[in-house]
Amino acid sequence: MITLRNVTKSYKTSTRPALDNVSVDIDKGEFVFVIGPSGSGKSTFMRLLLKDERPTSGEVTVAGFRVDRLRGGQVPKLRQRIGCVFQDFRLLQQKTVEQNVAFALEVIGKNRKFIDRAVPEALDLVGLSGKADRLPSELSGGEQQRVAIARAFVNRPLVLIADEPTGNLDPETTQDIMLLLERVNRTGATVLMATHDHNIVDTMRRRVIELDRGRVLRDDETGVYGVGR
Ligand code: ADP
Ligand code: ADP
Repeated sequence: MITLRNVTKSYKTSTRPALDNVSVDIDKGEFVFVIGPSGSGKSTFMRLLLKDERPTSGEVTVAGFRVDRLRGGQVPKLRQRIGCVFQDFRLLQQKTVEQNVAFALEVIGKNRKFIDRAVPEALDLVGLSGKADRLPSELSGGEQQRVAIARAFVNRPLVLIADEPTGNLDPETTQDIMLLLERVNRTGATVLMATHDHNIVDTMRRRVIELDRGRVLRDDETGVYGVGR
């Protein structure tokens, strides 16, 4: 589902590459943690998958798209296959919960009939059916992140990318969000999550890719965060 082959990314302004000859294969349906200290390349890794950045060299394949060679006009097609969740939720503040989720489908041209069926399903998945008419400002952080997950999931992406999705949440809310991401994963989506949270990684025992200064330090099938860190 995701393949990086000898991928190097050097930003113009820095001396050391943000990613340095990284090769990774992730299968359909896997749940993968990407860990590593700040600056190790986690965000760059994820941005390459979305074609937010271009690799300096190497091949990037996501959901059958050769991302490194993708033409501009094809980028929306790629992004339709990928759902994204961020630390800061990134909801539209003037739209209700329901409208936030529906908007993700409107911008890709889905018809009203599809939207009217898919949005309630996605809100149900995250347990927010009762709050469809609220504004984001009326919700807790955990609830806002659940809206963001519903929005990311509503088009049934093949890949869900979550960049520090629990970074602003307390431990209890974090657990709820992890259960939801597992639920999304069980529907068949490949989930890729960057995190600093030792507890999550050690509890879930999923695949762990650890980056250090742009290199893959470790790639464990059912890893823990690491000892002494
Ligand atoms: P992480 O997500 O693990 O914190 P990043 O991928 O954001 O790591 O950063 C990896 C390295 O690339 C860091 O040295 C960072 O300063 C640098 N970097 C990230 N984004 C840019 C950018 N847009 N321009 C220049 N350097 C960048
Ligand atoms: P995060 O990893 O929290 O999503 P960013 O990817 O924006 O945040 O930034 C990660 C690191 O990359 C930070 O250390 C930041 O200073 C650095 N960085 C981001 N953009 C640039 C840039 N344009 N030039 C240099 N460094 C950058």
